[in-house]
Amino acid sequence: MFVILAVVTGYTVFETISPTGILSRALIYGPGVALIWVALLLLFEIFFSRRAWCRYACPIGLTYGIVGATSPFSVRYKLPNCFHEAECRKVCLVPHVLDTVLKGRAQGMEVDIGADCTRCFRCVDACPTGALSIQYKGLGK
Ligand code: SF4
Ligand code: SF4
Repeated sequence: MFVILAVVTGYTVFETISPTGILSRALIYGPGVALIWVALLLLFEIFFSRRAWCRYACPIGLTYGIVGATSPFSVRYKLPNCFHEAECRKVCLVPHVLDTVLKGRAQGMEVDIGADCTRCFRCVDACPTGALSIQYKGLGK
């Protein structure tokens, strides 16, 4: 959508509403009315949906997702080892990628965690049962 808007308007529309861009401009050129938008976004994230901007709007996250899809590293989930107590989701910065650990959600006995995963591997350290492990493409399961 932002690509189409950029082509149609000849203007980087995303940069106008991006909180990162707005904050950067505020630091360099001084605060402006656009900071109200950043405050509204913050309130929405605090009270309704954590990281909603990153998850649903920001195209940078989508770009990282493409990188994630081609990454040689991934996290693999093994259902039989899982207690479903969700310690992994508590440390994950994008916990929606770990929905598969919730009881009844896994689509198979072994599941690769999705492209939105940032490969920080905090969940692997946090998992008490070894249900999550680091995989390297081309090496065994
Ligand atoms: S921390 Fe490990 S055992 Fe616990 S829910 Fe996550 S994957 Fe399952
Ligand atoms: S590697 Fe990091 S981002 Fe990926 S699922 Fe684990 S904690 Fe979340």
